[in-house]
Formats: sequence, structure tokens, C-alpha cells
Amino acid sequence: MNFKGIKGRWMVNGIAVALLLVAVAIIAFSLAIYNYYYATARTGLENKAQTAVEFFTTYVSKSYREYYQSAYRYTESFEDKDFIELQFVSTKGRVEISSYGISAGLSPETSDIASALEKGKIGYWRGVNRDTGERLMSVSAPMKYADGSIVGVMRYVSSTKLIDRKIVQGTLAACGLGFLVILIVFFSNMYFIRTIIEPIDELTGLARRIAEGGYGIQTEKKYDDEIGDLTDAINEMSTKISRSEKMQTEFISSVSHELRTPLTAITGWSETLMYDPEIKGDSQRGVAIISKETARLTKMVEELLEFTRIQDGRFNLNIAQIDVEAELEDSIFAYGELLRQKDMALEYQSGGQAIPAIPGDPGRIRQVFLNILDNAAKYGKDGKAITVSIDRQGDYVVVRIRDHGPGIPPQELPFVKKKFYKGSSKERGSGIGLAVCDEIVTRHGGDLIIANAEDGGVCVTVRLPVGR
Ligand code: ADP
Repeated sequence: MNFKGIKGRWMVNGIAVALLLVAVAIIAFSLAIYNYYYATARTGLENKAQTAVEFFTTYVSKSYREYYQSAYRYTESFEDKDFIELQFVSTKGRVEISSYGISAGLSPETSDIASALEKGKIGYWRGVNRDTGERLMSVSAPMKYADGSIVGVMRYVSSTKLIDRKIVQGTLAACGLGFLVILIVFFSNMYFIRTIIEPIDELTGLARRIAEGGYGIQTEKKYDDEIGDLTDAINEMSTKISRSEKMQTEFISSVSHELRTPLTAITGWSETLMYDPEIKGDSQRGVAIISKETARLTKMVEELLEFTRIQDGRFNLNIAQIDVEAELEDSIFAYGELLRQKDMALEYQSGGQAIPAIPGDPGRIRQVFLNILDNAAKYGKDGKAITVSIDRQGDYVVVRIRDHGPGIPPQELPFVKKKFYKGSSKERGSGIGLAVCDEIVTRHGGDLIIANAEDGGVCVTVRLPVGR
């Protein structure tokens, strides 16, 4: 059991308290029955002794001999002799007569006899028989002459075996009951905790799904309590996030559309002006800069529009059987000039296995390759080299694009595919490229893996399934 969870903590507390209470109750109960049984037995013996002494004082008198004979008869006719031993003890402490017979002649030297002989009062003793090891209790009552001097002692001895057995039985019964109580507490706690843990687990799952992008997901409110309130709060949060996401997407979409028209005009005119013989020197360089920057801006606007299409479900693939190798080579070719400008080398390796045609959207797949190459050239430009490879691995066509740049800090790696995530890099960009690539590759049934290569740089792996 996980003791850090609510369940563990609850159980430890609940069961510990129940155990403590049950233990206290058992101890108290055992002590009570112990006292009760011994007190009852003692009183019983004392009453018997009292009665016997009164009998002797009233009906027997005078000589020791008379006493002795009466005691003998009394012992003979003692009706409880199966449970209790009746002894007549002399003033010297010696057992003269015994209803059991065997202890006659012995001198027990117990405190009850001493008390009866010395103080003239009924004495009580509990202990172990020195010879047999048996646990005993005894009561001694002094028998007196008419003048008050002591003739001897009437002693009642009883084994405590029965009492002890009853106490053990009572304690065991209490333990059984205690165990039952613990079981009931355990199962009722388990049930109670389940009614808390399960809905919390459900809500945690929901919150996770929302966190992973399932904005707007709702769950049914099943409980009209604190958990119900939490459900309401999460549902409301989900709705609000979804609404604000929608607004964000709509805003990006409308701004991008607004930007597109003037950008088309700027691009068209800058290109026209580039070829105008009237424009020379610095002006020509200025127009070239306008043209280059407009192209960059257009790319960014296109990326944003693409993103809004994914967001509001207008993003579709036009699937055909495509030659991935050709698409990759086209992308490399298209990128060649830019790499040369940056003085970067590109090494291309085609794997041993033939690459089959796979179902895919050629435009989108190229878009993915171009985007990754763009990142490799942008972020890994200091590495001066890019390695691209394609191969077939089982049911997948695997394309790897690797640069030798600084790589991605490990703490940023889990987020680079998230939209608008830019990491700590100072390079310009919208942070959408990889999010769009991931969407495209995922929609093809493949996966996009971004990792740091062992000896530096980033290695992006695109795995596309051969057939679906
Ligand atoms: P951007 O438009 O900013 O390039 P991306 O989605 O393409 O957005 O990339 C997200 C982030 O991942 C980048 O801002 C950068 O920090 C990091 N990144 C991507 N590719 C590389 C790479 N090859 N080398 C280093 N960092 C990279």
C-alpha cells in the first residue's frame, strides 16, 4: 500500500486509532473480569469460612479434643469437597485434617494462616503450591475458645485453574470481538476511501487530458458534494480554456489573413523593382532586403495560417502513393542554395533497402522535411554540416536529419513540439514549425522524434508507416 497516498494515510490513522481503542478496551475488560472472578471467589471462600467459624463458636465449645472431633466431622461432611479443600490447621501451623487427605501433616506457612493465628482475623492468600506448582487461593479463619484464645484455623483452599481459564476465555473472546471491530473499521474505511479516491482519480485523468490539449472536455457531475464542486470547477476551467483558445486561434487567423494581402503586394512589387534597371546601388540592395524579409514574413504568416487550420479542424491531407525518397531529395535540392550561402555542407545517405511508395500527402511531407532542414540550418549553423539519411526499418520508412549545432537543452526537449514554444534560442521564429510537423507526421500514422545526438547536435527522426 502506498502510504503517501490518501488511502495509506487514512488507513494508518484510522486503523491505528481503532487498534489503540480496541487494545485499551481488551486490557480494561481483561482486568475487569480478572478482578471480578478473583473477588467473587475470595468473597465466596470468606463467607464459607465466616459461616464455619460462627458454627463452631456457637455449637462447639470447650476442649481442643471436642474441637478436633467436630472439625473432623465437619470436614468429612463438607459438601464442596470436589472444588475446595477444607483444612483444619493447628496453632503451630500444621494441617491436622484435610478433606483431600494428602495435605494432612504439612505446614503450608502461608500468610492467611499467619494472619488468622497472629491477628485472629480472616486471612487471604494467593500463590503457588511449593510442591505441586499449582496456583492456589486460600482463606483462613481463626477458631476460638470461649475466652477468645485461638484453637486452630479453618482453612479453605481452592485451585485458581478454573478462574484463570475463565479469564483466558474471556480475554480471547474480547480479542475476537476486537478483531471483528478492526475488520469492520478496515472494510468500512476502504469503502469510504474508495468513494473519494475513485472520483479523484477520474478528475485527475480529466485534468490531464485537458492539460494535454483536450480543451473543452467535460465530465459528468456524479456527486453533490465537495467532489461535485471540484468537477464543476474543472468543467468550467476546461470551457474557459477552450473559449480562450478559440479566441486566440480566431485572432491569429484574422490577423494572418489581413497580413497576407499587403504581403502579396509587397512581394510582387519588390520582385518587380529588383529587375528595374533604374534602381541601382544602395536602393537595389534595399529592395533585395525588402524582398528577403517579406519572404520570411510570408513564411511566418503561412505557418500561422497552417496552425489555425489545424486548430479549427480545416487541416486535411491529400493522400496518394508517394515516393518519400524523391520528396526528401527534392527538399534537399530546394534547400541547397541556402545551405551554400551559409557555407554548410550536407551529406546525404540513402540506406541499403529499397524505399517503397507509401501513402501520404506529398506537399505536407515536403513541408516537414523543409521545416526540419530549416531548423538544422538555423540553429545548427555553427556545426557547418547536416547529415540526412533515409532507410527502411520494418514497417517504417525512417528519415533522419541531423545537425552538429549546440543541440537542445535537455530540459527544453519535452516542449519543443508544443505550439509557440521557442526555447532559449535567440534565433528568430514563431515556435510553430515543429508543432505543425508533428501534426502532419502523426496524421500519417507515424512519429516525429526530436533528440540530441550523442556527440552533439540535434537528430530529428521522422518515421512514416509503409502501409496502413
Ligand atoms: P521555430 O519557428 O522557433 O524554429 P520550431 O517549432 O521549429 O520553432 O522549433 C521550436 C524550438 O526548438 C526552437 O525555438 C528551438 O529552440 C528548438 N530547436 C528546433 N530545432 C532545433 C535544432 N536543430 N537545434 C537546436 N534547437 C532546435
